[in-house]
Amino acid sequence: MPAPELCVAFACDTEDNHPNYVPGWNNCGSDYDKNPGTLNWSWSRYWRDLSECFKSQKVPVSWLIRVDNGPVLDQMLTLFRDKILELKSIGDEIGIHIHTFSWDPELSKWVQTTNPAYETKIVLNSLAMFRRNLGFDPVSVRMGWNTMSSEIMRTLDANGLLVDASAIPGTFSSGKFGKRDNIYDWSRTPTIPYHPSSNDYQSPGNMKILEMPLSTLTSNKSNKFADLVNRLSGKKVLIKLVPIARRLNLTPHRHFYITPWWSSSVYSRIIKAYSKKAIVDGMTFLVGYFHGCDILDPKTGKKNLIFEQYLSSIIEEISSLSGIDVTFATLSEIAKQYGTDASTHYS
Ligand SMILES: [Zn+2]
Repeated sequence: MPAPELCVAFACDTEDNHPNYVPGWNNCGSDYDKNPGTLNWSWSRYWRDLSECFKSQKVPVSWLIRVDNGPVLDQMLTLFRDKILELKSIGDEIGIHIHTFSWDPELSKWVQTTNPAYETKIVLNSLAMFRRNLGFDPVSVRMGWNTMSSEIMRTLDANGLLVDASAIPGTFSSGKFGKRDNIYDWSRTPTIPYHPSSNDYQSPGNMKILEMPLSTLTSNKSNKFADLVNRLSGKKVLIKLVPIARRLNLTPHRHFYITPWWSSSVYSRIIKAYSKKAIVDGMTFLVGYFHGCDILDPKTGKKNLIFEQYLSSIIEEISSLSGIDVTFATLSEIAKQYGTDASTHYS
């Protein structure tokens, strides 16, 4: 009998430093309270160290490069073009990371738009900027703040994107930081990869693009309550439950988002859960993401050694799983692999 397979992908949201409205980033963050914004790229001086964490263990990274309709526009593409192409040349994947910001003149802030027509326009403009600056089309994507709409999904699909990894199954957010961003709904989404329906990005259907959800933990009591809250999504009772759920922090740290602020035990639990899943199913996918800028310690402005160690130890932990064939791949490689295995592993 062949050994169970675990196919692993790491995606990196590759953009400027976190905004200065994110706690801890008031000194080192980008300023999104003016137009044009003031972008801070200081993390990029450690980009090579970050890349080396993976390269030294022969693990490819899917670098998803930030493009938007403002405040970043094509600045990342022009400033770091050579670096991006160098990473592509060593076998990493270069995909796209699109934030759907819009300038609000009354608030004098860049805020997330939820207007589907404007979302579509932003996605189209961002794809065009990517192509114009790098000379090729992206095949993988994560949307900023994990956001998604059927309009965005249809636009990505129509433009040849093979895989999106924005989904965090079982979660929704009505906004963070004074509701200026982080508005998303993945409450009904399957935990396994699926081709979305063109009418409903959360349901399986016939689009060519593959939704590759981030790996999540799903089986403890608090998550069950969170799932209940999610199932009530759209009903009036939600309005009462959402603040309670938030207060109790019922959707905490349960997806594979590698950040210096979460305990390493979260990652071990996810890795264990997915290796068990591989043994039961014969094959499974483990997909995680992180922010490139977290290699910077925003308090000291120096390299965040803890984060570097986190990444290395997570890769080592996955590599040393016994009795399982581990393959590290890019998002599009995983999507292609999924295509060939779909008949046996998707039910
Ligand atoms: Zn982002």
